Amino acid sequence: MSDLMRVQEAAEKLQAAIDSHKRVVFFGGAGVSTESGIPDYRGKDGIDKEGPDEEGYTPEERRYHDYFLTHPDKFHDEFIVRFRALSAVEPNATHYKLAELERAGKLRAVITQNIDGLHHRGGSQYVIELHGNMRTCHCEKCGTTYDIKRFLDDGVRCDCGGLIRPDIVMFGESLDDGAITAAVNEIANADMLIIAGTSLAVYPAAGLVDYFRGDCLVLMDRQKTPRDGAADILIREPIAEVFGKIKV
Ligand SMILES: [Zn+2]
Repeated sequence: MSDLMRVQEAAEKLQAAIDSHKRVVFFGGAGVSTESGIPDYRGKDGIDKEGPDEEGYTPEERRYHDYFLTHPDKFHDEFIVRFRALSAVEPNATHYKLAELERAGKLRAVITQNIDGLHHRGGSQYVIELHGNMRTCHCEKCGTTYDIKRFLDDGVRCDCGGLIRPDIVMFGESLDDGAITAAVNEIANADMLIIAGTSLAVYPAAGLVDYFRGDCLVLMDRQKTPRDGAADILIREPIAEVFGKIKV
């Protein structure tokens, strides 16, 4: 079968499932954004491929909260590079189609592990961002919240003397309880769950799926995941190509 036929076949299965369900929830990982041109952090062409810095900190180590506390200015400069790279990327067919499905009343929520904000830019209203976002920042000392511009333009120091940090979840930090609870509620109340572009190998993705009690689990990923056997529909084709064919 040709690639085109496989995409068409996958889209028809997904379409039929969406049309026959009322409470669809989408749960996406890095693979949703990589089709917009955002490199997966750990992939072959990932942002993290460059080696340690002059002090010996690897790219992964430079994303830890401890590193932010001890090297706030370096963290700040590196965040700006990342922010600019992510801001230059546009939403793809997956983001736009999910927003359309939400407006049509068919999709209840988007849960994402990505911090790039592409679902918001694609028009989605209800997005649960498990790993935070790059639109806002706050002072760790006085708690004041600012637009991210404050961090980008004026640096890491708050008027109170504390450190301002983006509202992303850094390595070494736990996820926001409110986001986890919201995600669990949406998944538990969904009759159809689409999981896309995530390996499901790490917490919290793996654990969240256990709350699903609906009758249609869709897995979309180029690679095998630990949950493939539980999927009612398994799709290996590019996510955006399949969503591009869905009619709302
Ligand atoms: Zn402050």
